Amino acid sequence: MLQTFRADLHVHTCLSPCADLGMSPRAIVDRSVELGIDMIAISDHNSAENVHAVMKAAEGTRLIVFPGMEVTSKEEVHLLGLFNSLDDALTFQQAVYDHLPGENDEEAFGMQVIVNEDSEVLGFNPRLLAGATEFTTDQIVEGIHRLNGVVIASHVDRETFGIIGQLGFIPDGLPLDALELSPNTTPLMAKRRFPGYAHWTYVRSSDAHFVHDIGKATTLYMLCDPEVGELKKALRGEEGRRVVEEEEAAGDLPRMKKRSFGGFSYARPVAAHTGYC
Ligand SMILES: [Zn+2]
Ligand SMILES: [Zn+2]
Repeated sequence: MLQTFRADLHVHTCLSPCADLGMSPRAIVDRSVELGIDMIAISDHNSAENVHAVMKAAEGTRLIVFPGMEVTSKEEVHLLGLFNSLDDALTFQQAVYDHLPGENDEEAFGMQVIVNEDSEVLGFNPRLLAGATEFTTDQIVEGIHRLNGVVIASHVDRETFGIIGQLGFIPDGLPLDALELSPNTTPLMAKRRFPGYAHWTYVRSSDAHFVHDIGKATTLYMLCDPEVGELKKALRGEEGRRVVEEEEAAGDLPRMKKRSFGGFSYARPVAAHTGYC
């Protein structure tokens, strides 16, 4: 049966040099569960080394954790890669590491802490995770798709590290699965600001670097199961899977059960949608 899942698919951990050291696996899981989020993706800069710890920390909870990574292209475009398995994420991580020059300077950029699910420090990543890879934007999209992953252009409404700000445009034919907006911008605002890109699927996520930022922007997906393959179909609007517009969810109250979420109310369908799963 098709059902809705509330997702924040862009969350950093203490492995990202720019993220708060309080972004431990347990803190991320606890906050996400507290907010009623169904799915998160862990998306550290150019690395997936803390994904396993967050997945372990979520065991026994209702939270689904997708393996992900926010990769920086040589043009300094941020791209969110979501993978079907931890193995796929680590395969891609190896390719990234092989094309990521430089070493981290903790004083300049911050610490890159590798932890386990109990927040015990396992080590420090010495690579320049804040830097750009040697891959072009096209190569990153192609590499993630080769692993059947999902590629979303990060925070396209931001001048820095957003694809429109960095390149000046979205190249014709670039097979991104969706465009992501930061908490500051709604899809309606984006469609007005970028009329040429109104046909794209927009999603929103928090890009959380601090625990209190988790869930600041989320997206509701209609899926059969909380899986990356299903997510890909939803972003393409295939087989009944889709991204649910917030206005639509809020306006559909008679069939829905109201639920408090992070300071505002949203509606969640109660067995209202049957589909071909
Ligand atoms: Zn980013
Ligand atoms: Zn980010």
